[in-house]
Amino acid sequence: QKAEWAKLKNEHTVTADGHQVELVANIGTPKDVKGVLDNGGEGVGLYRTEFLYMGRDNLPTEEEQFDAYKTVLESMEGKPVVVRTLDIGGDKELPYLHLPKEMNPFLGYRAIRLCLDEQDVFRTQLRALLRASVYGNLKIMFPMIATVDEFRQAKAVLLEEKDKLVQSGVTVSDSIEVGMMVEIPASAVLADVFAKEVDFFSIGTNDLIQYTMAADRMNEQVAYLYQPYNPSILRLVKMVIDAAHKEGKWAGMCGEMAGDSLAIPLLIGLGLDEFSMSATSILAARTQIRKLSKPQMEELAQKALQMATAEEVVELVKSI
Ligand code: PEP
Ligand code: MG
Repeated sequence: QKAEWAKLKNEHTVTADGHQVELVANIGTPKDVKGVLDNGGEGVGLYRTEFLYMGRDNLPTEEEQFDAYKTVLESMEGKPVVVRTLDIGGDKELPYLHLPKEMNPFLGYRAIRLCLDEQDVFRTQLRALLRASVYGNLKIMFPMIATVDEFRQAKAVLLEEKDKLVQSGVTVSDSIEVGMMVEIPASAVLADVFAKEVDFFSIGTNDLIQYTMAADRMNEQVAYLYQPYNPSILRLVKMVIDAAHKEGKWAGMCGEMAGDSLAIPLLIGLGLDEFSMSATSILAARTQIRKLSKPQMEELAQKALQMATAEEVVELVKSI
């Protein structure tokens, strides 16, 4: 089996009938890039930049961040690298920011909410990213976007920093795509509106599932409600993909679901363009996808969307 996988390391990812998708990886540090290339990753679909900020007692400087982003972009040799701006809060804490204790951290002051409020932190990161952009194929995405206004604000801050850098003679890439994570149900429901303003979507199912089912992703007692295959989740995923395609944009997924062999047939059927997963899942996923037919998976997904329960969906997928 491993030998079969290895042969696909430098291949594109295509279904049996020739439909191409992209298999990319989630990373947390520049050290993870080796694993991405060794496992045949076609890019980085989610660079979680939080780790640059964690395990220390002050904020990383612009230079430290620039070095990290430049290293990742250069070592990926022109392949796409989607960097997510700081997504702190919820399960990820930063003691030195002295954020107030909250009753519901997952519903609180975090990610883009914090970045739009503490703009120094945000602008430093954006400058580091913009300066690094000339070393590879950078795409920037904002986490936890709930409203169109938040996306507009975040993008405006990015463009302001870009203008300032250009004015001062720094070269910045002119082809940076700017997208957002869809991990809050409100933005999935409004995806057709967002799609007119973003360059791409990346669906964050880890959070999208917890917010849709109102079940804390860390709480064992409600783990039974954490249902990736619930038809409600599949319908939201479909809304996002359809909305992106209608505007000629691409839709990816960077939650755990993207690398799940039971979900992959459904996601191919729903038309997902990019699958971002842990590097070690890529070759298995590529092998699996080569055996699937797009029209058959479309039929499968259509059936799944009409089902009542997650269990029924799982049974359906297992029957193929
Ligand atoms: C997600 O929410 O699906 C996601 C990819 O982000 P994180 O797991 O870092 O919250
Ligand atoms: Mg998330």
